[in-house]
Amino acid sequence: MSRLVMKFGGTSVGNADAIRQVGEILQKAYTDGHEVVAVVSAMRGVTDMLINAAKAAAQGDDAAARSASTTIWERHAEAAGVLLGRTTGPDLAAIKQELSMFMHLCEAIAILGEVTPRAMDLISSLGERFSARLVASYLQTLDVPSEAVIASELIVTDECFGSANPLLDETGERTRARLLPLLEQRTLPVVTGFLAATRDGVITTLGRGGSDYTAAILGHALDADEIWIWTDVDGVLTADPRIVPNARTLSRIGYTEAAEMAYFGARVLHPKTVRPAVEKRIPVRILNTFNPTHPGTLIVPDDTVNGRAVKAVTAIRNLALVTVEGRGMLGVPGVAARVFGAAARSDVSVLMISQSSSEQSICFVVPSDASRRVVQALEQEFAHELHIGAIDRVWVQDDVVIVAVVGGGMRRTPGIASRVFGALGEKEINVVSIAQGSSEYNLSLVVEAADANDAVRAIHDAFSLGEPPRQEEPTLVVPE
Ligand code: ADP
Ligand code: ASP
Ligand code: MG
Repeated sequence: MSRLVMKFGGTSVGNADAIRQVGEILQKAYTDGHEVVAVVSAMRGVTDMLINAAKAAAQGDDAAARSASTTIWERHAEAAGVLLGRTTGPDLAAIKQELSMFMHLCEAIAILGEVTPRAMDLISSLGERFSARLVASYLQTLDVPSEAVIASELIVTDECFGSANPLLDETGERTRARLLPLLEQRTLPVVTGFLAATRDGVITTLGRGGSDYTAAILGHALDADEIWIWTDVDGVLTADPRIVPNARTLSRIGYTEAAEMAYFGARVLHPKTVRPAVEKRIPVRILNTFNPTHPGTLIVPDDTVNGRAVKAVTAIRNLALVTVEGRGMLGVPGVAARVFGAAARSDVSVLMISQSSSEQSICFVVPSDASRRVVQALEQEFAHELHIGAIDRVWVQDDVVIVAVVGGGMRRTPGIASRVFGALGEKEINVVSIAQGSSEYNLSLVVEAADANDAVRAIHDAFSLGEPPRQEEPTLVVPE
């Protein structure tokens, strides 16, 4: 008997057919005698609809909220009709009531003309409440005693709205107090992913895609034997399968590799997911709800599994490259500190940095929508240097993508960079900038957005990632 936290993503709870699959998976694990905690995302597309409606309201358009509310209701009612044979009852009444709160909130936002990060978290996290209720009610019909649990009762975070950080000690106490009695009485909790609350009970969210992180936080709190992330592909692949059709499932990867891949754009996992798992060395599996017998990917402490130096190629899109340039920067101490100080003050996260050795330029990559803000901050910071000509200019190249080559064995293997550049050269892809992380778990390059997919495919081919690794991978054993 194992204690398992199982998270189901947006597609896995996207409609009645998908929820049936989820029900089957949970029912089997439950009747096999495991202690199971389910974590669910909102139905695919619902979080985007909620966020877009709130943004539209801030622009004065509160009709968008009404139409989002109707669509969201219809999707849940349709699934409930199929799965539960009803569209009324306390669970559906609660969804209706929350949708009406959503419309009132959007009316208020339209009057105020702005949506605060705090209000956005309250709104964007509603979808998980809806799906958790639906899944819990469906499990009841399968004779699996179940209860929807809103994660604000369990996970305590700081006040960093939009990407809050859990306070693990308090979270552990609350989670155990609330969920262990349920598990003891053989009730299967269905917990809302993505959302949490501050000590004062104000709703926060863990960042887009954050339901994976919820599962890992609960796994940590409950000392789970394993954390299973059920999604819509056969595990973590060597590249995004939408871009590289011959991408393969990695049967095993290390925690650091998984985190690095996630950070560099492999959407299959929220980048912070492995953190709580690492602390307690809890294995994490990535599995396919729609192909549940596939062994998927097992994420383990060791980064050298499968014998390959390069494991995967990823891409982060919608970025801009900001360059601070000038001969007068040569040897001037503190320029870099001032550059990044200005970026931090404009509340922008810097994804990658590279400085030419001649010290005549510093460039760094930021999300596109933040680039103008950073440039303004830099122009302010260096007003004097720009005036006297010590710095020539601060400029932005829009529409760039970071392509990252990831693998724990890269640091011990010479010649990786030359193979990467050789492959790109052959395809005549221009590399705008390069950085190697100090961990040597990745080599990242900036290319123009138009070249990104070709670059990913060229590197994937150059390392034959579409072929099985030479070293045979051990067969995975699912715990009994
Ligand atoms: P969920 O809703 O289950 O959390 P996501 O859409 O967030 O699912 O993540 C799964 C998707 O991630 C896949 O459908 C796939 O298109 C995309 N993806 C990008 N890179 C990778 C990769 N390296 N391995 C697997 N999936 C990837
Ligand atoms: N529903 C949230 C999102 O779309 C969280 C998640 O699905 O993981 O970002
Ligand atoms: Mg996701």
